[in-house]
Amino acid sequence: DILSLFPEAFASATSVSIMKRAIESGDVELLLHDIRQFADGFHRPVDDSPYGGGAGMVMKPEPIVEAVKDVERVGSKCQTIFLSPQGERFNAKMARELAEFDQLILICGHYEGVDQRARDLVVDREISVGDYVLTGGELPAMIICDAVSRFVGGVLGNADSHIDESFEMNRLEYPQYTRPVTYGGLSVPDVLLSGHHRKIDEWRKQHSQLKTQKVRPDIL
Ligand code: SAM
Repeated sequence: DILSLFPEAFASATSVSIMKRAIESGDVELLLHDIRQFADGFHRPVDDSPYGGGAGMVMKPEPIVEAVKDVERVGSKCQTIFLSPQGERFNAKMARELAEFDQLILICGHYEGVDQRARDLVVDREISVGDYVLTGGELPAMIICDAVSRFVGGVLGNADSHIDESFEMNRLEYPQYTRPVTYGGLSVPDVLLSGHHRKIDEWRKQHSQLKTQKVRPDIL
């Protein structure tokens, strides 16, 4: 369940490729909720100026807390996540863990952020997608939905598809090639054309290791 002031932002991410298929097949259910629908008053205000002064607007706590209470399914193993640059940095291990929940509620902030009381009252975990500040939590929420969905059974079609993927086994994936055999003066390594599975595995392990050492030694 995504809580956002701009639920229409999710249209592109959910209407193509694997996410679309996962939703259509029922492996993943993605429900979009407009936070404004949970605000009171004629104009349904969702933000106000910060106490203590300063630039910008802060999202009010009441609509967010009410929205979470409304969408939370009783008895489900649920985690409520606030997307925030101040959160734990998202990674593949977290995506795998989150896929074990029955329900995830993702709260997308906007403007200067969200009143601290909403965070204190209903948020279990804060997650960041990187050390930079975006204008809203919608893109981070799409990233999390996509990465988590890949760990939901049935979504990738082939249960083995994760095994060689980057970040599994603390490695980046080996280089991949497809037809044609020669392109731009560069040829596919002979071993990959050999049909010799043990040698192919060795080559892939070696290149996976080399690439990781070169660009991401921190994950080894
Ligand atoms: N004033 C906040 C701060 O300095 O921490 C940043 C607010 S940001 C402009 C608006 C919203 O975008 C945040 O509340 C959050 O939901 C989302 N956001 C921005 N950067 C993000 C990031 N790196 N990871 C996750 N969410 C992010």
